[in-house]
Amino acid sequence: MLKGSCCCGAVKFLVSSPPTMMGTCHCSRCRKAGASTFVFVPRSSFEMLSGLDSITTYKPEAPYKYNRCFCSICGTALGEVTSTADSFPVAANCFDDALNLSNLFHEFVKEKPSWYEICDNAKQFPAHPYN
Ligand SMILES: [Zn+2]
Ligand SMILES: [Zn+2]
Repeated sequence: MLKGSCCCGAVKFLVSSPPTMMGTCHCSRCRKAGASTFVFVPRSSFEMLSGLDSITTYKPEAPYKYNRCFCSICGTALGEVTSTADSFPVAANCFDDALNLSNLFHEFVKEKPSWYEICDNAKQFPAHPYN
């Protein structure tokens, strides 16, 4: 069982099975949101404990499809925790417990700013890995 929360503690959630995939996105949208390392969590193992009414969801214009959930009190980026998809990205920054995972890939590396240096050996994709 892994606990997660936002900076102010209003939003709390549990993930019942350890995530198995972590990736980092370097696109300009993730950079603006201030969080770009995600784990993918199956909906069946995600439980929101509190703070659902404190979450604001930013829906980007097409063609971008991933929504951005954040705590409207403290601004912590949460990933896509209100998604109804079978599996969705949760921002790695909001976990309180150790994930014990290594980053598996970097995507949208072509949009990476020069001030950010990739310091691991994970696979790098210029854009989305599956496009
Ligand atoms: Zn908060
Ligand atoms: Zn991104």
